[in-house]
Amino acid sequence: MSRPVHTEPFPLFRPIHARIDLAALRHNYLRTRELACRSKIWAVIKANAYGHGIMRVAHGLSDLADGFALLDLEDAVRLREAGIRQPILLLEGFFSARDLPEIAARSLSVVVHTLEQIDWLEACELDAAARIPLFLKINTGMNRLGIPPALAATVLARLRAWPHAGPIGLMTHFADADGERGVDAQFARFAPLAAQFDGPVSMANSAALLRFPQTHADWVRPGILLYGASPATAHATASDIGLKPVMRFEARVIAVQRLEPGDRVGYGGMYTAEKSMRVGTVACGYADGYPRHAPSGTPVAVDGHRSRLLGRVSMDMIAVDLSDLPQAGLGSVVELWGEHVSLDEVAQRAGTVNYELVCALALRVPVVEMNRQCVPQASRTD
Ligand SMILES: *Cc1c(COP(=O)(O)O)cnc(C)c1O
Repeated sequence: MSRPVHTEPFPLFRPIHARIDLAALRHNYLRTRELACRSKIWAVIKANAYGHGIMRVAHGLSDLADGFALLDLEDAVRLREAGIRQPILLLEGFFSARDLPEIAARSLSVVVHTLEQIDWLEACELDAAARIPLFLKINTGMNRLGIPPALAATVLARLRAWPHAGPIGLMTHFADADGERGVDAQFARFAPLAAQFDGPVSMANSAALLRFPQTHADWVRPGILLYGASPATAHATASDIGLKPVMRFEARVIAVQRLEPGDRVGYGGMYTAEKSMRVGTVACGYADGYPRHAPSGTPVAVDGHRSRLLGRVSMDMIAVDLSDLPQAGLGSVVELWGEHVSLDEVAQRAGTVNYELVCALALRVPVVEMNRQCVPQASRTD
């Protein structure tokens, strides 16, 4: 099933959509490039480009990005078939030897993070001319993917001896680049290996890119920065960093209720009116990707004016306060996040992170693309 794409906002059916602003995406890419001006950029477009549409984002950055990084071989193949020519890095590598012929045929780069993958490389039969660029991932303390630093030298020797090895790079990933611990301990384990290494080196995700310039190296791997949200909200907001939100999530008021003191709103009656109120029912719920744990008081913007969520989020609807907005009513546009309400504020209120909110945008929410004109070509299919 693919997502409906609308050219006009709010057609005759359910009034909800996400606007994806490709000019903002490009602005954020350029801003990221300013922050890491000595490095090449793998634009991270995993998880359907953090909910923004992988083909749309790849085309939106096709003349800018040095490379794209993602997870699924199928997605990488779609990018190649759509004419994307720059390096594409599979961040989790390959999951069996069977993937390798396609990886070679499509000129994809792969992360090698476990010894079994090296066995598969050595056992696999490829055309004599096939060369696959590899990035060896070192586990410097996150303990998710990667080989221990002590094995790096022997593993690199094995990779160099593999007849189909293309250029070999070295990478690691930080567990706490956005947090108190920062990158020091992991950086100290990785730096000696990187210093002796003659190929490309990559360490930084968005938070490390922003906070720790010593991690920039040859390639940085920003994801969330490109989508206009802060990777480390405790340190800097998106606007502090000079980013523009790419996704604006909007729906309309489809009913208006009047409450008297003591009346309650929504499932469980979680909000009780203390005075006479006007409440708008909005065509957006958790099945659209709005976080179910957002409490009363979470900000929204109604026709550009900030207001607040009332009561529990239901599957298909939420309630918002219209009491101070006499002009607002049926048909008013409610921004759930985007321009007037930042993704980061909503994430914080809902007890989650900006990443989860955008990734969770539901397939049933149509997308409206904005500012495609500055982009050479774009897919209409996701
Ligand atoms: C997801 C991911 C990134 C991007 O992370 P952001 O925090 O969005 O910048 C970078 N590197 C790896 C290995 C990842 O899995």
